[in-house]
Amino acid sequence: MDRNSESVVVIGGGVIGIACAHYLNKAGYSVTVLESGNLAAACSYGNCGYICPSHVLPLATPGALREGMMSLFDPSAAFRIKPRLEAPFIRWLWQFAKRCSTRQMLETAEHLNTILESSAAEYRRLLVDEINGTEYRQSGLFYAFQTTKAAEEFSVNTRTVAAQLGVRSSWIDGSDLRDFDKALKPDLAGGVLFPDDASLRPDRLTEQWVAMLKDRAVVFREGVRFLGAIRSGRQITAIETSEGLMEADHIVLAAGAISGRMARHFGAALPVEPGKGYSITLDRPAQSPRVPMLFSEHHVGITPFDSGFRVGSMMEFIGFNTSIPRRRLDQLRASVSHYLTDDLPKSNVEQWYGWRPMTWDSLPIIGAMPGTDNVCLATGHNMLGLTLAPATGKLVAECVQGKTPHIDPTPYSAARFC
Ligand SMILES: Cc1cc2nc3c(=O)[nH]c(=O)nc-3n(C[C@H](O)[C@H](O)[C@H](O)COP(=O)(O)OP(=O)(O)OC[C@H]3O[C@@H](n4cnc5c(N)ncnc54)[C@H](O)[C@@H]3O)c2cc1C
Repeated sequence: MDRNSESVVVIGGGVIGIACAHYLNKAGYSVTVLESGNLAAACSYGNCGYICPSHVLPLATPGALREGMMSLFDPSAAFRIKPRLEAPFIRWLWQFAKRCSTRQMLETAEHLNTILESSAAEYRRLLVDEINGTEYRQSGLFYAFQTTKAAEEFSVNTRTVAAQLGVRSSWIDGSDLRDFDKALKPDLAGGVLFPDDASLRPDRLTEQWVAMLKDRAVVFREGVRFLGAIRSGRQITAIETSEGLMEADHIVLAAGAISGRMARHFGAALPVEPGKGYSITLDRPAQSPRVPMLFSEHHVGITPFDSGFRVGSMMEFIGFNTSIPRRRLDQLRASVSHYLTDDLPKSNVEQWYGWRPMTWDSLPIIGAMPGTDNVCLATGHNMLGLTLAPATGKLVAECVQGKTPHIDPTPYSAARFC
């Protein structure tokens, strides 16, 4: 179908906005992406780069509330909640607390699994057939454990739920770890490998993806800020931007963690809070791990790239905070030292923070904006925005076309908040 006469403006040039632009362009729309800063320079830049269909468990698990409460007294906790008297945040916390049950966790895991599977399959096609130069590796994701107790807890909870949903994994005993990866310390208890996970360098992905889409006539406008919407009934007829009014037949809101606040311009309220995380990027250590790994007891992830080595972690609910505290970066380094034989290189090539767009139910928000006929949402991707980008883009293009969606979009609909 030729839809070149119909225009779509995508607000937000992170990995989600880029993926939406891809599938909308493929469907024949004339697409413009507006980005207030530089393309893919926010949360989509310095993340760990995991494409991880194994991540079926939400943040809201039965133990999460207790962990969050403990963090009130421990500023070094990886998962940290700092109370603030802001009504949207208090409502968000209340809803999150109500989700911390086994029943809700299992229900969310099923919904996450559906979109994770769809996205992983799309990536396998995209990264082989269309987008090169991303440092993509289909080498699995390895969870390493210092203690048998932590490994057992992980097996009983995460691994069992994942297995019930068809996610493959295998246990590697402590005594076999050195054969598996020489970079691991010999005294670890063991680990679990999820062989169907993959990794890439996120900034390379977005760079290559944007270059490909520019060749396909997608327009990217950096330094242009969305400011407001002009409405006629249920239709948004134009948007106000820092460069003046822009008309469009369809609008996609993909502005990451700020989307919740921005939805108010369209007359809706969305529970999206920033979940702040940090990463450091270094040269590769002499004995670099072969595969990306998560060090469970310390909640830290590492990713060996061809062009470097990244350590990332933390989930802080402290608002739209922009600082990068030294102690958090030191903590990332210290955590890794419990698992790897080699010391990390002394200096960081780059240090970074990002605001994950967090919903209280850990599910993304994809589909029609309540109260409008021509605005589609693509936000709230929590800890999985890189992984979920292709399936999100595909669902958004289907929503804009009014086409039957490739997976049931109901669990991701904003209607769940109304
Ligand atoms: C430490 C860490 C590790 C992570 N690791 C992984 C991982 O391994 N795998 C994974 O799948 N996910 C991971 N994530 C999560 C992932 O990074 C996010 O879910 C994802 O980047 C969100 O993408 P986004 O496009 O929605 O948001 P963003 O990348 O934040 O993009 C939103 C864009 O909207 C723009 N914008 C905002 N306001 C306006 C406006 N008014 N007008 C125009 N533009 C605007 C912003 O400038 C920004 O560029 C990690 C996150 C962190 C913090």
